[in-house]
Amino acid sequence: MEIIDDAYCVQGLKLVDVAERFGTPVYVYDADKITEQVEKLKQAFGGLKLKLKYATKALSNISILKLIKKNGCGLDVVSIQEAHLGIKAGFKPNEILFTPNSVSYQEIKQAVDLGLVINIDNISILEQFGHDYGSKVPCCIRLNPHIMAGGNTKISTGHIDSKFGISVYQERHIQRVVDTYGINVTGIHVHTGSDILDAEVFLRGAEIIFKVAKGFKNLKFLDFGSGFKVAYKEGDVTTDLTDVGKKLGDAFLSFCKEYGRELEIWFEPGKFIVSESGYFLVKANVIKTTPATVFVGVDSGMNHLLRPMMYDAYHDIVNLSNPNGVKRVYTVVGYICETDTFGWDRKLDEVKEGDILAIKNAGAYGFSMASNYNSRLRPAEVLIYKGEAHLIRKRETMEDLVRNQVEISLD
Ligand SMILES: *Cc1c(COP(=O)(O)O)cnc(C)c1O
Repeated sequence: MEIIDDAYCVQGLKLVDVAERFGTPVYVYDADKITEQVEKLKQAFGGLKLKLKYATKALSNISILKLIKKNGCGLDVVSIQEAHLGIKAGFKPNEILFTPNSVSYQEIKQAVDLGLVINIDNISILEQFGHDYGSKVPCCIRLNPHIMAGGNTKISTGHIDSKFGISVYQERHIQRVVDTYGINVTGIHVHTGSDILDAEVFLRGAEIIFKVAKGFKNLKFLDFGSGFKVAYKEGDVTTDLTDVGKKLGDAFLSFCKEYGRELEIWFEPGKFIVSESGYFLVKANVIKTTPATVFVGVDSGMNHLLRPMMYDAYHDIVNLSNPNGVKRVYTVVGYICETDTFGWDRKLDEVKEGDILAIKNAGAYGFSMASNYNSRLRPAEVLIYKGEAHLIRKRETMEDLVRNQVEISLD
């Protein structure tokens, strides 16, 4: 009898069967896991007026956004196109926070016209906004607290060299512009980066927000961004949500007391909500033994999952086809014609050509960062919902690849 590890099943479906049915490479998401993560956050911040604004850029498939909505979250979007996806998924514009960086003022005006909540991260934009809308359109201000936080420099956003937010040292300048135009500031925001472990980092960010917030009398919410860390491998330390919830919650409530009324507390988790829900299923095309290692070459590459090459991210890999095989050491690589490694020195159940591997934690920044590099087609996406596997994005075809190309005559 075949023994199947539970970890290779989602809601009772064997992942290897899902790969068989939909082909590889394919992204598969577990709807229950997404709901579970949202519940964890609701629990950690219970007793507060909590609003979760899911960071759309992590995974922006419309069916996923609908699921996020069903779980009672709003959205954080960083482009007008993400906002349109959100609206298509059924979100009301006022449930969507628009947090762009370095976009044209034109795009901000489009966001106002759509009715989104606007988050401003530049004094010059704040001035133009005040000039055009005065007190008529409320806004949120994104601060840069200048604290170093997060897993690595590419995902840290709150430090001194970062392009994000308006420096807290410009507090006086912000106030001048706000007073001059009578701008209605209803929120203050900080997002210091991803993979923050420590409640202390959230608290330091909070303290800075509280200090600035006292200067604005019409606030409705304070937004602490995101950064909750998830586990990428067995034994990984993750953000202690209960600890953050307790400490930040207490600090928040005592600020509200001082402020004179209870505000809403907002977060914008992306990775925390969808990372662990995702499995990227690929097929072993070739096994190649070299003097240095044994490579498994799979039918995908960094064009489909960029995180290992871009961020040195660790993604656990398992062999679904041989769950109880003898363990051997492999280097798992993609088919892109440059260094393209998913994982070095991984102990996998012995891999044969044709086996299906699952790359874990593929829900966040997986498909959403995928490209057609090497003229490869982007994978299909499947959502497992109520025990059934649903195709939520078709695999691309050659037609998709040439659709927008314009052939000219070179006579
Ligand atoms: C990317 C981003 C997030 C989400 O970060 P995660 O690490 O995925 O939780 C939240 N807020 C803003 C403004 C972002 O740009």
